Amino acid sequence: MIDYVIVGSGIVGLATAYYLKRFSPESSVLIIDKAPGPGGGDSGRSAAAFRAFFTNKVNLMLANSSIEFYKSIQDRGFDLGMMFVGYLFLADKRLFNLLEDGLREASRIGLEYKILDPEFLASSLNVRVKVEDLEEASLVDVEDIEAGVLVPKAGIIAADKLVEYYYRSDLSLGVNFSFNSEAVNLLVEPRKQLGIEGEPFPWQDLRVVGVKLADGREVRASKKLIVAAGAWTWRITTPIGVESYSRPKKRQIFTVKALGDLSKTLNARNLNPYNISPFIILPKKIYMRPVPEERAFWIGVSDELGRPYEIVEEREPKADLDFYVKGILPVASIYFPELQKHYPHAMWAGYYDLSFDKLPIIYEPYESDLIISCGTSGSGIMKADAIGRITAALALGFDEVELYTGDTIRVDSLGVKNRVSGAEKLVL
Ligand SMILES: Cc1cc2nc3c(=O)[nH]c(=O)nc-3n(C[C@H](O)[C@H](O)[C@H](O)COP(=O)(O)OP(=O)(O)OC[C@H]3O[C@@H](n4cnc5c(N)ncnc54)[C@H](O)[C@@H]3O)c2cc1C
Repeated sequence: MIDYVIVGSGIVGLATAYYLKRFSPESSVLIIDKAPGPGGGDSGRSAAAFRAFFTNKVNLMLANSSIEFYKSIQDRGFDLGMMFVGYLFLADKRLFNLLEDGLREASRIGLEYKILDPEFLASSLNVRVKVEDLEEASLVDVEDIEAGVLVPKAGIIAADKLVEYYYRSDLSLGVNFSFNSEAVNLLVEPRKQLGIEGEPFPWQDLRVVGVKLADGREVRASKKLIVAAGAWTWRITTPIGVESYSRPKKRQIFTVKALGDLSKTLNARNLNPYNISPFIILPKKIYMRPVPEERAFWIGVSDELGRPYEIVEEREPKADLDFYVKGILPVASIYFPELQKHYPHAMWAGYYDLSFDKLPIIYEPYESDLIISCGTSGSGIMKADAIGRITAALALGFDEVELYTGDTIRVDSLGVKNRVSGAEKLVL
């Protein structure tokens, strides 16, 4: 029988398998996924930006150590498309207030950031900074850009290459994969089977022994069954009375060519060594991710109230152009008027797996041999290496684990009982 079975070959499942084999080479590991290949869920639909800039210090530690690890891979010659273009918050008064905790935490641990004045931004990024006199600005309730906050330890990465890195490493370490394999039920059985009709009874000591697949096969794990199914996790665990403390919310990305004045924005000068636009965050949590190889921006928004927690389209979630035209453009075009002239030529959608406090969820409920690793809350690519280490260490029964940066973290820090305090305030 296989020691560890992981449901989900997204970035979290792949990184977890990698560390299971690194920490315990003799263990057998199998990853199953309903998709035909690795990264077929949200890991392949991400904006793939990263930042060492969070308001919660553990979240910051997860991101910082994962970023350092990814950089080390790229420095060793495996191109992850990683570019430290920076994150640039174009902050009106409200956004600036929101950033203050992050700035305090960043200063405390010695992370660099720069405050840029609006005139400099207007010339280097070609952004309109004075907007309060515009009628449209008061309609959508946005203000002048007070300042830019540039975080240099941040940027963009190719998520597909990161998936490929862990997938190839997993294969070379002997991890097995079973694609096109959809888990439909978790199998719960007594540790001591009595062979009496009606088992399991409430007084029996139960464990999760494996999963039943859509084609009727059963896959059993002798040690731990790990559910790392991203936005689908809650659907797998709630039928056996286990909470994942996270729920899916649809997120959409729209690709707009950097033509006309936007080309000057894409080629922004003096903000990073590449002379490329940083990842821009506008008021109302609208973001513009530079895609230099496509000469384009990926544009999205991290809206909060009003839309359901649910997976609306099972296979290929679709983006809705109307959402861009009515939900994003009215704000984004105030700061970048050229956007009015160039509509998206491509778009896609996925799901954020949002936990209640926007920190990952990694825990083993009821000593059941089931481990849940989910709740990446829109920043799972940039934190996956640390999440994989913690999940693997928890599965192997360690009390704590060392991250790439040498920071040590308790494996129950992101669980339920001994969870770190303080919700993450900077979710994009
Ligand atoms: C639009 C968008 C933009 C984003 N931007 C960023 C960003 O800029 N930076 C960042 O760090 N993060 C970003 N994210 C978040 C990031 O993509 C996720 O946090 C990360 O991909 C989660 O990885 P995962 O392994 O948990 O989930 P997934 O990659 O979704 O993997 C889960 C896997 O489980 C499989 N699965 C599900 N149910 C079953 C089942 N029943 N049986 C078998 N297999 C199953 C799925 O097929 C999938 O392959 C973004 C996400 C979206 C949607």
